[in-house]
Amino acid sequence: MKGWLIKMNNDYLKNRRPSNHGTHTKYIYLFAFWGHVFFVPLFAFLGNSIVFYNNLLCIGIDVLCLHLNKKELYKTSTFLFVLGITYHATYCIIAFGAGNALEFYYITLTAIIILSNWSLLHKIAGITLQFVISIIMFHYVHHYPPITPIRESVHILFHHMFLFSNIFAIAYLCFFFMHTVDLAEKSLLKQAKTDCLTGLLNRGAFMEALQAEINRPDRNKEGLGIIIADIDHFKKINDTWGHLAGDEVIQKIASTLSSELRENDTIARYGGEEFVVFFPATSLASVHSIAERMRSKVEHLELHYEDSLIPVTMSFGVVFEKENIRDYSLDSFLKSADDMLYRAKAEGRNLVITQST
Ligand code: GH3
Ligand code: MG
Ligand code: MG
Repeated sequence: MKGWLIKMNNDYLKNRRPSNHGTHTKYIYLFAFWGHVFFVPLFAFLGNSIVFYNNLLCIGIDVLCLHLNKKELYKTSTFLFVLGITYHATYCIIAFGAGNALEFYYITLTAIIILSNWSLLHKIAGITLQFVISIIMFHYVHHYPPITPIRESVHILFHHMFLFSNIFAIAYLCFFFMHTVDLAEKSLLKQAKTDCLTGLLNRGAFMEALQAEINRPDRNKEGLGIIIADIDHFKKINDTWGHLAGDEVIQKIASTLSSELRENDTIARYGGEEFVVFFPATSLASVHSIAERMRSKVEHLELHYEDSLIPVTMSFGVVFEKENIRDYSLDSFLKSADDMLYRAKAEGRNLVITQST
């Protein structure tokens, strides 16, 4: 049973791999489409009808690839595109000879194959084919003259145009994937720091933020207030209205507590139905009054679930420190706040207990 579950999870994660196929290929196909359109009059002027009709065929392939891409048939569209460009570039090398930068298409196609969603085996086969064809073409152009010899001016134009399109395509692919990795990294970082039920910071991220606050160089100028809050008799809420109702209560409490905070205050979900807040403060009284406002707001919340009203209260533990904050450890701060919370629970709940009371 356990093995089956692990396998199911692995399959799920494998299939949930984020996919950005379709975006970069769309612009590559569009770029190829306009490139091929641009070459229509030039190839017509050069008089090699096979090159001319191949170019028209490529325009058709580009349009088909764009269509398949829109239908999310990425494997097929990439296959068709790679096939079309490989054939077209190879025939153009046969027609116009060496030195036109046409051989760079094999390298660009290699990048497109690597970035495709083909299987590893297909990728290896595709890359090997590009390599083998470029070797064959290297030897071919050294043994056979071009079918359609071109003037020096056209040769230079071709070289620069084909060089540009390859460098541009490779640069675009690199930038696109750098951007994708950047976005994925940011999203993962956010997920790692966020509690998914409430959207608040999770415990680990909170600890990091609090440690950074304690270490702040200008720390001694102002005090630090910490509030730990816990929903009273939350188990009873779960037992009476169910876990989904419990989740909704946690979410509502999270937004209620957050609404009491200012820009520089930091709030996190500390545990199941526990929240923790820290902020720069000037006195114990000011921290106490914020906790008291939160307590009162929660007490007066009208939490409707289905046809009933769920009564909710919270208990609060408050600490404030001003002197030598940097000498305190994270744990000692949180332990003091937790002790106050424990007292609030012991003294009847729905209370704010501060360190010195
Ligand atoms: P006290 O007033 O002493 O804090 O009592 P309590 O019932 O609130 O505390 P207790 O620690 O006994 O129960 C907390 C419950 O919160 C138990 C746990 O199942 C529930 N819980 C923890 N996380 C979640 C959650 O994400 N969603 C829901 N619905 N319940 C949760
Ligand atoms: Mg509780
Ligand atoms: Mg608790």
